[in-house]
Amino acid sequence: MPGPGYAHFGAEERRNLLEVVDSWLATSDAHSRPPGVDAQVRGLERELTARFASPHCLAVNSGTSALLAALAALGIGPGDEVIVPGYLYTASVSAVVFAGATPVFAEIDESLTLDPADVLARITPRTKALMPIHMLGAPCDLAALGQIADDHGLFLLEDAAQACGATYQGRPVGTFGQAGAFSTNIFKVITGGDGGFLLTPDERVFQRAYSFHHHGWFPYGQETGDGDLLFGLNLRMNEFTAAVARAQLARLDAILDRNRSLARALSAAIPARDGLRPRLLHDADGDCATLLVYLFDDAASADAVAKELGTRTLLHSPKHYYGGLPELAALMAGDGRPSPFRRPPDRARHGYRAGALPQTDAVLARSLALTVGLTDTYLGADFGVTPRSTPEDVEAVADRFRTAVNGVLGR
Ligand SMILES: *Cc1c(COP(=O)(O)O)cnc(C)c1O
Repeated sequence: MPGPGYAHFGAEERRNLLEVVDSWLATSDAHSRPPGVDAQVRGLERELTARFASPHCLAVNSGTSALLAALAALGIGPGDEVIVPGYLYTASVSAVVFAGATPVFAEIDESLTLDPADVLARITPRTKALMPIHMLGAPCDLAALGQIADDHGLFLLEDAAQACGATYQGRPVGTFGQAGAFSTNIFKVITGGDGGFLLTPDERVFQRAYSFHHHGWFPYGQETGDGDLLFGLNLRMNEFTAAVARAQLARLDAILDRNRSLARALSAAIPARDGLRPRLLHDADGDCATLLVYLFDDAASADAVAKELGTRTLLHSPKHYYGGLPELAALMAGDGRPSPFRRPPDRARHGYRAGALPQTDAVLARSLALTVGLTDTYLGADFGVTPRSTPEDVEAVADRFRTAVNGVLGR
């Protein structure tokens, strides 16, 4: 079972999907487009702007596309630096690389998200944006990061791919900066099979993102309009994905409720003890609770418990750790092969190799995630409960975890 949205699939997803198929079948004139050809996509965008109280929403074909469109819309490109955390998903970095900009890594802290103090130390005259990532469904320290962005005239581009529905001080993540990017792939909180969307408060950012995602057309396919005429690509969401994503969006609160009540039950059954503490949460009420993360005092204990439970620590999550992206290290070391389109930057200021961010390495090596609604081997989350688990299942998982911890740390 990949993500929580997937586990909540039901009749509404089927009904919406068949509605699209039926409406297309009902188009008897072979020369005309089906009526309301983007009805589901537009409907989803409208529902998302309402759900997130965001002025503009653009549905796209993936979370990666949402990031790329946001970077294009903000005009971030060659010569620009974007600060990203060392714990990430590879797409966050590849979007920056494909925009032609340079990713600059900063440390995470025990929240597993950007450490604001370290962000400050990485700002240069080339820095254009901060890209905080709400990793594992929990909000970053948006107060501190927003302040830094304001003070230094930087864009705040939130990667909220893993955190649809998360809030910080009552407000949805993804709505704090100039743009927020979300994913609806099958591992995310809600899913349309694939897909994603971008939120922005800024009409010009929306117009440019629209143009970029749809071959340079003005919003809603107009030939003329206000704003910038851009070269674009095809990053559009399709009707089938939107139809399913709408059904999922209607379930978002139920999905979050279920995750949160499971996480509460699971953590209540894992009493506090020396040598182990929960991940730091910047807003515990706003966590999507797709995973429950514990930090050990040392990496050896975390590894031993992980081994006992048949899982791994977060340091060993392929594609989620800056030091485990050999393609990036090669690119920045001056080996142009991993970059399909361009030469690597002249000045390789960053090694992009394990060890470059000692605090991040230490935190990830000590962190173990128990799954609550999300099962993803590549996140190191193979052990835990699912949305369908019973109270007995939760107790059994907590018991196995407690036993493994006690076995390693002693009673
Ligand atoms: C999943 C994810 C993405 C990319 O989303 P896709 O829809 O798979 O392209 C980007 N960033 C983060 C943090 C993610 O977890």
